[in-house]
Amino acid sequence: MIDVLIIGGGIAGIETACSLQDLGYETVIVEKERTIGGHLNNWDTLFPTHRPASEVLEYYTEETRKRALTIYLNTYVTSIIKLDDGTFEVNTSRDVIFHSKTVVIASGYSLFNAERKEEYGYKIYDNVLTSADLEKKLKTLNGEFKTPTDKVPEKIAFIHCVGSRDEKSGNHYCSKLCCVTAVKQAIHMKQICPQADIFCCYMDLRMYGPGFEEMYREAQEKYHIQFIRGRLSEVGENADGTLQLKVEDTLAARPSKIKVDMLVLMVGMESPQSTALFKETCGLQCAPNRFIQPNDHHIGSNKTNIDGLFTAGTSIGPMSIFDTINHAKASAITIKNYLSRN
Ligand code: SF4
Repeated sequence: MIDVLIIGGGIAGIETACSLQDLGYETVIVEKERTIGGHLNNWDTLFPTHRPASEVLEYYTEETRKRALTIYLNTYVTSIIKLDDGTFEVNTSRDVIFHSKTVVIASGYSLFNAERKEEYGYKIYDNVLTSADLEKKLKTLNGEFKTPTDKVPEKIAFIHCVGSRDEKSGNHYCSKLCCVTAVKQAIHMKQICPQADIFCCYMDLRMYGPGFEEMYREAQEKYHIQFIRGRLSEVGENADGTLQLKVEDTLAARPSKIKVDMLVLMVGMESPQSTALFKETCGLQCAPNRFIQPNDHHIGSNKTNIDGLFTAGTSIGPMSIFDTINHAKASAITIKNYLSRN
């Protein structure tokens, strides 16, 4: 019988396992992908310091190796069943069945599929990217930055709130991190394409964390990034591959047209499909936004409605990497208290 089965080998899952090992507990991690690290594998730099994401990834890869953590890769959980004796049976895609005293769901988030906002032209026009596409492009950049149609960009627009705070997408919540990511990416683009004019079209700017507001100020004063309070209504493509944006400037109360070489859609975070599966197989309670509902928002955000079933990281909602790491550490302490009582 394992002490703790952890679902997800991203940063939340690995940090939970490390913290639990320090507290003397045996863990097993089940990860659906071929590698650990989750979304961090595709990220270039982190806000607000522009630190390479690979540094954090390397730290956790090294911890995993040093501590000889047990990880099943390429394995996804098909059901979680709570048994009468209070322990769990966890079934997986590889016909391995785990029996565990507790389970932690650290299965993270999915990125909003921008194709659902057809009017923004993603996968229709070549020069429309998502924020995740841009990170991948920057991570593998070798030489001069060019748009997908091979042009050094002179005008770039970032569109905030794609798939978040959007009734049509069914996501009323704020994804919390896309504003600061847009500012980070806009600064990065200005650094590597100093000739480019860069616009951010936002609804509200949510610069909630330490160093975020300072970065936003720097984006305006040092990098001359232009912030337009407005909503994109439509994207069209010109014959030369440039994009025509129709934006409603909500401060000036007038519609405007902007021609750009590249458009970046700041896609939001959604609950992954696995959460719905866990809801179905073990009665896990989810919030209206489809993320896992914490047992108590203030004093029990690592607990679920099921005794012995815990959460770590973005499985309960959008969260930055530093908040994710702290949430995972808190999860380990909550589990320790549970296991020492049961
Ligand atoms: S963080 Fe900013 S871009 Fe993201 S959903 Fe919230 S307001 Fe929109």
